[in-house]
Amino acid sequence: MRNIVVQKYGGSSVANTGRIQDVARRIVKFKRLGYKMVVVVSALGGTTDKLIELSRQITKYPSEREMDMLVSTGEQISVSLLAMAIHKLGEEAISFTGSQVGIRTDSSHTKARIIDVNATKILKELEKNRIVIVAGFQGVSLKQEITTLGRGGSDVTAVALAKSLNASVCEIYTDVDGIYTADPRIVKNARKLDKISYEEMLELASLGAQVMQPRSIEIAGRFKIPLHVRSSFNDKKGTVISEEVKMMEKVVVSGVTVNKNEAKITICDVPDKPGAAAHIFKVLADKNINIDMIIQNISRTGATDVSFTVNRDDLLKTIRTAKEISDKIGAEGVTSDDDIAKVSVVGIGMKTHAGVAAKMFTALAGKKINIGMISTSEIKISCVISRKKAQDAVKALHKAFNLSKKAIVKER
Ligand code: ADP
Ligand code: ASP
Ligand code: MG
Repeated sequence: MRNIVVQKYGGSSVANTGRIQDVARRIVKFKRLGYKMVVVVSALGGTTDKLIELSRQITKYPSEREMDMLVSTGEQISVSLLAMAIHKLGEEAISFTGSQVGIRTDSSHTKARIIDVNATKILKELEKNRIVIVAGFQGVSLKQEITTLGRGGSDVTAVALAKSLNASVCEIYTDVDGIYTADPRIVKNARKLDKISYEEMLELASLGAQVMQPRSIEIAGRFKIPLHVRSSFNDKKGTVISEEVKMMEKVVVSGVTVNKNEAKITICDVPDKPGAAAHIFKVLADKNINIDMIIQNISRTGATDVSFTVNRDDLLKTIRTAKEISDKIGAEGVTSDDDIAKVSVVGIGMKTHAGVAAKMFTALAGKKINIGMISTSEIKISCVISRKKAQDAVKALHKAFNLSKKAIVKER
């Protein structure tokens, strides 16, 4: 079927019934231009956080299956309301849960991965000339259990649907005009990018630019699905995420990010012997805990501290597991610090330009910001710093790399 457009509306775009009706008008406008519309919707802004908070009032260690049962309800509210708003405008629309449209996932509750999408049902509805509305963020496991795809997961739903429906366009509607050189809420003179490569966007997203969920970029990149990130509050052109183009290669740093969602755990005085690290990270992996940075120094005394960062949502579970590990391997206990932030600079040009790390560390030093951990890849440098210095750090880095200006560096 040709001319299928997938549009995704984030929670900020459907924060109340007024906004839902605005979104309905936009969708109907597209439909009347002759497009087959498939719309993915997030829960009303703030709803998922509220649902998580309700669970916390009951227990610190909720069952992850029940968490998925709980948080998946948010999207069921928004899809049905949006369908009603479209009906009111005189068009046919039908809403579905992830399970109803066959978004099959593995069974990693709260961070499930999509295995495949059965597009038949959606295609049938499109043939009936209906607008199809799909609940974002959720799927169904092979055991018929409801799963969710991790925070921000509606982006993943949208890209997966665009792929399986072979859509001509995948538009991500949000509350900013596109992808910026830094979070525009922090850096007032951040610059909107007209385009960005999958590779850079994946780093920006993984390093905290909340605007897109990293796995959605992974899928888009793998299947070369161009994404258009734009505002649902106006008609301006946004940012196109696509394959690397020549111009991009010349920009050394294209963005600065901050991630305040991580916490640091240290297992103290781990005996320095083969297999210690393997044991620690195997046990954590078996508990479905994703690790980000890891630091282990050489030991002078036969024992060494092993520090790593995890998502704050997994902090309590991680501390509990780390304590068990510490007892088992004869380490000296566990400490944790959730007062951290990770700031990063990202850019494809780093592959071929030296001096980025020095410039970054100098900018942080200039603001008297201490660096706790460092990690690098070909196209990014990240530093863990104190959480209360995060905003200052982002502003200082944005300035040091002159990102408010279009900085094209000549090839050497
Ligand atoms: P949605 O509800 O549409 O999913 P999100 O809140 O998940 O929206 O993401 C949009 C927010 O991401 C913006 O309001 C912005 O503050 C934040 N953001 C962080 N980094 C960036 C960036 N580099 N470019 C654009 N937005 C960013
Ligand atoms: N509602 C979910 C969340 O808040 C998914 C999403 O918005 O994409 O994380
Ligand atoms: Mg989002």
